[in-house]
Amino acid sequence: MLGITVSGVLDAAASRWPDRDALVVTDQDVRWSWKELRERARALATGLLATGLNTGDRIGMLAPNRAEWLLAQFGSAYAGLILVNINPAYRQAELEYALNKVGCRGLITETRFKSSDYIGMLQSLAPELATASCGDLHAERLPALRTVIQLGSENIPGMFSLEQVAGRPAEEPLQRLEAIAQQLDFDAAVNIQFTSGTTGAPKAATLTHHNMINNARMSADILRFTEKDRLCIPVPMYHCFGMVLGTLLCATTGAAIVFPGAAFEAKSTLQVIEAEACTALHGVPTMFIAMLDDPGFEQYDLSSLRTGIMAGAPCPVELMREVIDDMQMSEVTIGYGMTETGPLSTQTLPDDPIELRVGTVGRALAHTEIKIVDEDGLIVALDQPGELCVRGYNVMLGYWDDGKQDRWMHTGDIATMDEAGYVRIVGRSKDMLIRGGENVYPREIEDFLYTNPKVDQVEVVGVPDPKFGEEIAACIKLGEGERATAEEIQEFCRGQLSYFKIPRYVFFVEEFPMTVTGKVQKFVLREQLAEELSQKSGTS
Ligand code: AMP
Repeated sequence: MLGITVSGVLDAAASRWPDRDALVVTDQDVRWSWKELRERARALATGLLATGLNTGDRIGMLAPNRAEWLLAQFGSAYAGLILVNINPAYRQAELEYALNKVGCRGLITETRFKSSDYIGMLQSLAPELATASCGDLHAERLPALRTVIQLGSENIPGMFSLEQVAGRPAEEPLQRLEAIAQQLDFDAAVNIQFTSGTTGAPKAATLTHHNMINNARMSADILRFTEKDRLCIPVPMYHCFGMVLGTLLCATTGAAIVFPGAAFEAKSTLQVIEAEACTALHGVPTMFIAMLDDPGFEQYDLSSLRTGIMAGAPCPVELMREVIDDMQMSEVTIGYGMTETGPLSTQTLPDDPIELRVGTVGRALAHTEIKIVDEDGLIVALDQPGELCVRGYNVMLGYWDDGKQDRWMHTGDIATMDEAGYVRIVGRSKDMLIRGGENVYPREIEDFLYTNPKVDQVEVVGVPDPKFGEEIAACIKLGEGERATAEEIQEFCRGQLSYFKIPRYVFFVEEFPMTVTGKVQKFVLREQLAEELSQKSGTS
């Protein structure tokens, strides 16, 4: 295993492959070598320190995939800061919660993207920005936040622009970076990502240099990555899939990082794979489905593709076969993991027999232990289902400010393991659904819908969907004498919850299926709704 820090990884890449492509972002006209990426990241690091941020401070990154994401990732690491990934789909309440949960002192933010007006959200959360000096914000609702850096070119009161902060550094501040590098411990926290437990409120999984770098490195070995590879990354950078299995995996091997766009779009991804002769592609299952379904799919020359990772949600066997045959990704692998485990715990090998490559999530990665246990925590027999638990270097430090992590990470996923160690994910014991690769925690949506005075009881479940894997259904019992429509409930959520959390289906019911102990049987509800929907669409 590697005993180095994130900034150490970039130092090594810049010295081994100075002039090879590090990052290509076609829609931003960016093509940086490893040497240039290092220089730019260090310039940003000195600028961040000059704004008053100190080693150990948390700095949020609120932006879709663009070149500046890599500057933030490596720049914060050079400055000894802890980078906090913020989902760019977040709305105001979610953003406020995330920034305060981990006490972000700094924030780098996109100005706007699609329907999100980030500057507007921040100005409404912190009206004090209007009169604050840059780097010295004191806002009632964001008490820890001092420095806001925006990625636009216009002047905005109370905020630095990235250009102001990341100008070329003088010699003396660069020496400060060397001093910080000497002090950094690779077992210390370097990154925080939000993921939810069953409580509804997102928890802040805290990862170390050692977790992420070694996870990326083990996976790179399986993909047989070298500096000749070029990885197309349509998955978001705010998630481990992008910033560990994308950025760090490339930085440890010298491979080029290629962003096909700010957010996933099938056509531009296919175009960029061809134009940049990408050898590898990562994606959640729904991304591969969208690319294969693209009306122009046949036109693209994908012959440069060789490998990549499909992960993040159950990967259907048929889809894997199409990716191997039609996308020509002969060595594609399936990965299984979660944010709390840096992310990967298992992965298939390109040499595994084909049935195992398409039908399992592979075996435990090197240095990672897996056990499958029953409700009493005892290991089940081979091929029997139980909760998958993970122990090893890849397990996070813990949730920020939420006590210590057990040595075993309980994943909430139900799995089986065969005699040779191959794992199959067969279900989930946690109350979570995955819509198009985005995890959705029903409790969070239920809590929000309870703020609607017409709602007496609400249960949110996932129902099968051919495009997104699962879709969100909200089942609502209205209060006495109340009336409402599905559109009204969806409208109530709009602007308050991220778009992917807004229920696609809203059902009004009189009662819920209950256990004898008075608990709602969500699995029965799920089956009833799936049945009702399939009858409606005439597919059953
Ligand atoms: P996240 O923390 O966002 O990475 O989500 C982790 C969850 O995604 C896991 O606990 C699983 O429920 C699910 N997941 C990830 N990879 C796979 C996979 N290959 N097959 C089935 N489920 C997966």
